[in-house]
Amino acid sequence: MKIIMLGAPGAGKGTQAKMLSEKYDIPHISTGDIFRANIKNNTELGKKAKSYMDAGQLVPDELVVDLVVDRIKAKDCFKGFILDGFPRTIPQAEALDYALNNQNEKIDYAINVDVPDEDIIERMSGRRACVGCGATYHLVYNPTKKEGICDVCGEKLILRDDDKPETVKKRLQVYHEQTQPLIDHYEKKGALLTVDGTQDIKVVFEDITKVLDK
Ligand code: ADP
Ligand code: ADP
Ligand code: ZN
Repeated sequence: MKIIMLGAPGAGKGTQAKMLSEKYDIPHISTGDIFRANIKNNTELGKKAKSYMDAGQLVPDELVVDLVVDRIKAKDCFKGFILDGFPRTIPQAEALDYALNNQNEKIDYAINVDVPDEDIIERMSGRRACVGCGATYHLVYNPTKKEGICDVCGEKLILRDDDKPETVKKRLQVYHEQTQPLIDHYEKKGALLTVDGTQDIKVVFEDITKVLDK
């Protein structure tokens, strides 16, 4: 099953992608996590991506497309994959379509987690991310068992720099301009599944899996 997650920053893409990855035993590929790992390890890619990310802008297409296209050719993607945070622009979506087409494959589901802008700022200020494994939590809606410590790997949690309200506003603007048009793109292909992302995490998950399990 080949899945992509669509939705505003903070809509819950990563949260659902992690749960789907476990249920269907396919890899969860987050381009945001890949960039953050590169920044942490001070790689050339990390150095190039950082200024864009800090400003709440998208990293240029040419820095992300080849990376993802190569990643989905890896053996562990044989049964499928969940792309989280990619594609984010029409040229990225077209490059992905082209790469899959060449292998007679296609995206089965583009899951649009729908959350209005008003809810996003609050979600982001309460989001805490694990520096070790990338798991995300929320102070109120999805707290860890032990405060400040990841349930999965025991590492520390942080508030991401780009989750501060000013940067979140910029990211929302970028989302509406550059990423939202992808909803139409996948609707035309008959792959779109829109779910109400304002519901409880478990209910959103049920809404998704009841369609995928059909
Ligand atoms: P969120 O979880 O809030 O949606 P991500 O972790 O997916 O955010 O992405 C964080 C930042 O990484 C983005 O604001 C952007 O700068 C960069 N980024 C991630 N994926 C892409 C992509 N496919 N194209 C361009 N930039 C990206
Ligand atoms: P994205 O990957 O789309 O940027 P995340 O999955 O990281 O979003 O979720 C953003 C924040 O909102 C996190 O703190 C997460 O715990 C919380 N969250 C995710 N889904 C829900 C939900 N259905 N209801 C309330 N909070 C949620
Ligand atoms: Zn962790």
